[in-house]
Amino acid sequence: MKRSADFAAFCREHGLSVTDQRLAIFEALASSREHPSAEQIHRAVRRRMPSLSLATVYKNLESLKKIGAIADVNPLHEEARYEAALPGTGAGKPHHHLVCVSCKKVRDLFDGDLDGLRVRDTQGFDVRAVRVQAEGLCPDCQRRQ
Ligand SMILES: [Zn+2]
Ligand SMILES: [Zn+2]
Repeated sequence: MKRSADFAAFCREHGLSVTDQRLAIFEALASSREHPSAEQIHRAVRRRMPSLSLATVYKNLESLKKIGAIADVNPLHEEARYEAALPGTGAGKPHHHLVCVSCKKVRDLFDGDLDGLRVRDTQGFDVRAVRVQAEGLCPDCQRRQ
């Protein structure tokens, strides 16, 4: 409940109206640890909102990304994967990712040592964050081999 209220406040602060669709999409994202794709979010929300189209999900994800309520996680995947980015949503604090190169699973990785990484050759970029993507085989895929 508090999460929905925070989300609504955040949207209003950023001039985005809070619709039932947006709220449902954000909730689906914030309650998942899977870094779901737009299709997966669509599938989850459609149970409650049968008329919701995939195109609408994409459009809402774009607007939410623009105001910083969600972020896309972009490694190795052909399709974008998303996570909630508001404080208190788990992914709300800076973190890194563990990515399985086989099944494409993405897990959050919190590691203070990695947070301290600095980029030496910034090539003129004003670097604000460094995110590490550790790639390998997840436990499930290791067992399957
Ligand atoms: Zn895997
Ligand atoms: Zn994450």
